[in-house]
Amino acid sequence: SIAKVYPYANTNKPKEYYDYEQLQVTWGSQDIYEISRKIGRGKYSEVFSGVNALNQEQCVIKVLKPVKKKKIKREIKILQNLTGGPNIVGLLDVVRDPESRVPCLIFESINNIDFRTLYPRFTDMDIRFYMYELLRALDYSHSMGIMHRDVKPHNVMIDHEKRQLRLIDWGLADFYHPQEKYNVRVASRCFKGPELLVDFHFYDYSLDLWSFGCMLAGMVFRKEPFFSGADNYDQLIKIARVIGTDKLYEYLKKYDLKLHPHVAKVIGKYPVKPWSKFVTTENQKYMSNELFDLLDKLLQYDHQDRPTAKEAMEHPYFAPIRQQQQQQQ
Ligand code: ATP
Repeated sequence: SIAKVYPYANTNKPKEYYDYEQLQVTWGSQDIYEISRKIGRGKYSEVFSGVNALNQEQCVIKVLKPVKKKKIKREIKILQNLTGGPNIVGLLDVVRDPESRVPCLIFESINNIDFRTLYPRFTDMDIRFYMYELLRALDYSHSMGIMHRDVKPHNVMIDHEKRQLRLIDWGLADFYHPQEKYNVRVASRCFKGPELLVDFHFYDYSLDLWSFGCMLAGMVFRKEPFFSGADNYDQLIKIARVIGTDKLYEYLKKYDLKLHPHVAKVIGKYPVKPWSKFVTTENQKYMSNELFDLLDKLLQYDHQDRPTAKEAMEHPYFAPIRQQQQQQQ
């Protein structure tokens, strides 16, 4: 199994581009950044808002927890490669505390509102607009040979006043190389693609389109997260209850995979549940045949059958957004 698009994105670049272990980081001085308040905390970091004392510009300071040097280098190299790209969070500086030597990443600051507050306020067109913007970030990173591997609402910052979206947290991202065996312990449980849940190690960029599909389904049906498994086994069962079991067995057969014995025992047989069954009075304003068709295409077991980010952008669901953008040009 190799990626349908951009399979040789890295092969065609100089080794320094993807060989992140060789990266020699030039650490700036932390002194010029003043920390003001804590805005987030993740598994791998504590995040603060701050200002650059030299130009008074707002910034975000991501203080990395002690993790392997290799992982830090990977995140920095990927950010350096992608910074400046469409809707990719801008990396401004990499600094180290002179005493503790704790590494920090300095980012542009996005005036984000928590998605649990923001998404319910969205109109149908807002959702189409932001999801299209997210696809631009994904298509760009994939074209640069990088898969994000942790697409979820927490990692998508939206400044609704400016109508600006940024894809953040490149800490789990990796370079795509054909035939490379990847770790399946990536992405957050509810956004993990079937490939990860059936231990298929030769996945590619299409993983991000599954997670994107989960995000879209969560937004339009107002069900966050859309597939909410209690553990990784249950996650696959939750998926099967919606997209059915027949296609799952086809998928396993095609790639010569087996279900975990525990899952095989409890999964049973489910038909495909039509999207119309998820419609409520609250979410019906987001519904359309184009939406259902796009969800059908994104949320497929077989990663090779999902649309690429570029193809998803060309889907009829985004026609009104493409039209708007043409008029603006
Ligand atoms: P996780 O373990 O959740 O993946 P992490 O340690 O990798 O997190 P990030 O996801 O990069 O860290 O950042 C944690 C949180 O900090 C984000 O969910 C977000 O709320 C906030 N944050 C990070 N970067 C920015 C930014 N540039 N602008 C505004 N807020 C940000």
